[in-house]
Amino acid sequence: MKYQTRQTLTIYWQHAKQYRFLFIWMLSFSVLWSVAGMIVPIYYKKFFDVLAAGTPTSPETVFLLIRIMIILIVLALLFRFLLRRLGDIATITFRARIMEDIANSCFAYLHKHSFTFFNNNFVGSLVKQVNYFIRGFEVISERVVNQLIPLTIEATMAIIVLWVLDVRLGILAAAWLVLFLFVSWFISLYRYQYVILRSAAESKATGILADTITNNANVKLFCGYDAERQLYREAIGDTRRLRLITWRLNVLFDGVQGFLTTALEAGMLVLAFYLWRRGILTVGDFVLIQTYLFRIFNRVWDFGGVIRDIYESFGDAEDMTKILTAPHEIIDAPGAKALAVPHGNIEMKKVSFNYHETRSILSRFNLTISAKEKVALVGPSGAGKSTIVKLLLRAHDTTAGEILIDNQPLHLVTQDSLRGAVSYVPQDPILFHRTLLENIRYGKPGASDEEVFAAAKLAHCDEFINEFHNGYETYVGERGVKLSGGERQRVAIARAILRNAPILILDEATSSLDSESERLIQDALSVLMKDKTVIVIAHRLSTIMKMDRIIVIDSGKIVEEGTHQTLLEKPDGLYRRLWQIQAGGFLTNMI
Ligand code: ATP
Repeated sequence: MKYQTRQTLTIYWQHAKQYRFLFIWMLSFSVLWSVAGMIVPIYYKKFFDVLAAGTPTSPETVFLLIRIMIILIVLALLFRFLLRRLGDIATITFRARIMEDIANSCFAYLHKHSFTFFNNNFVGSLVKQVNYFIRGFEVISERVVNQLIPLTIEATMAIIVLWVLDVRLGILAAAWLVLFLFVSWFISLYRYQYVILRSAAESKATGILADTITNNANVKLFCGYDAERQLYREAIGDTRRLRLITWRLNVLFDGVQGFLTTALEAGMLVLAFYLWRRGILTVGDFVLIQTYLFRIFNRVWDFGGVIRDIYESFGDAEDMTKILTAPHEIIDAPGAKALAVPHGNIEMKKVSFNYHETRSILSRFNLTISAKEKVALVGPSGAGKSTIVKLLLRAHDTTAGEILIDNQPLHLVTQDSLRGAVSYVPQDPILFHRTLLENIRYGKPGASDEEVFAAAKLAHCDEFINEFHNGYETYVGERGVKLSGGERQRVAIARAILRNAPILILDEATSSLDSESERLIQDALSVLMKDKTVIVIAHRLSTIMKMDRIIVIDSGKIVEEGTHQTLLEKPDGLYRRLWQIQAGGFLTNMI
């Protein structure tokens, strides 16, 4: 068995064993129900034997025997029906509970993965993997309980009973079963490789369709219709080719199965007739053999499909298994304490960091920010400003050195307490597809409506929210797409106002706003910044002129620092140059 398959089974089992009672109930009823199903034909055999025997004694005795047989058959059928229903209760409860638990475990484990993990994985693909993993359990447990167990029990019992009737019947049935299962297994696995290729081709075609629909504006604007159509045609052509192969294999498979079942049916009939002529078998035995054959045919006909479904489910679950068994990248240290921020001092001591080993972003980087100080990080694009902030939020761990807040190393405090002490407003905030009220309240769960409204007013969200038909109850669309970039930024600022944490980080937080809105929000931000340690990243230097200290970063190093005024006074300073470019641009635009 493949390593991943074993791991998937282990995870499923860890969940299943929480419900031992239901598990045993389900399995034992599945076994009992299958056994009962094989006992009923034995009564039929007796029934027909009595019928065929005629009247060895008196007709009354025969009628009495027949009545008893009918009652026994009805009772056995009722008993089997009852076993099945009771088993079903356990099966569906067991399956539903475990699917719920697996979904919750996936959610919990997935969300504890790091920012990097989510950057490296597509949202759609993760959602699909979680769903496949849950569905995998459903399919595997269903196939095992409803098909594999009954198949094993019924086939074994049929062989035993036929063996007892006559050893030749037993050998024929056993040999046929082995051959049939082997052929089914072999063809299923052979076909499975094409099924995988077909699903890949289907995913590719779906991907192209989705991508062209998302980019339909580009397709139109760049006259890409013909090229895209050709691309899609090719992908759909591949799908058709592979679909045909799998369907042809289906037809072949059905043919082989049909041939094998007919062969057994004929072989059994001939053998039974031969045995009957020699007085070894009775008419009732014929009925028994036929009933068993039909039952076995029914069970094994789907065997190939069952194997395929189980293989497919394990295959589908594999990616999620890898995610669930991969250790979390950023974890709380054992015994980590909650961060306490009485002042808000931040210290980065000899911090080194790289995203990939080949390229260092920060090397022995030092930065001290005093309590309640307001600093701005400026510098060329790619200099490492956002990286500094990400390290502060422990989105990544430093490769060397340490970061302290009020003398507590970040790697020794809990991540929740760290992020709870920081209000972070990113450049491109993403919102939940929930109402505006809920989105703003996310900054402080449990805040009253009045608090939310007050924060929204300060962040100048009120103006645009009141224009919506549903006001604060307006849904913002997936990722907040129904709002403009500036509106989303204002919602994020309202969240930060509501959160009111001792450390405030604004990463290009007003870059999407027009100058008038920005001026208004700057006022709100000034109020918000009061009594907090503040780090602002900004490209528009006019927004950070009033900061206590401006730190100019280039290629991961501090190249200058000081107030706006002192930095402007440096004749060859980078800040002065950047300022002149922006002021020049502004002037040029004005002219
Ligand atoms: P900007 O002003 O454009 O936002 P920045 O100064 O904030 O730039 P960072 O985002 O910190 O720069 O990036 C610093 C360097 O690290 C860049 O060269 C960038 O390509 C690289 N980088 C950033 N994020 C990642 C990542 N997730 N994986 C790999 N490299 C990254």
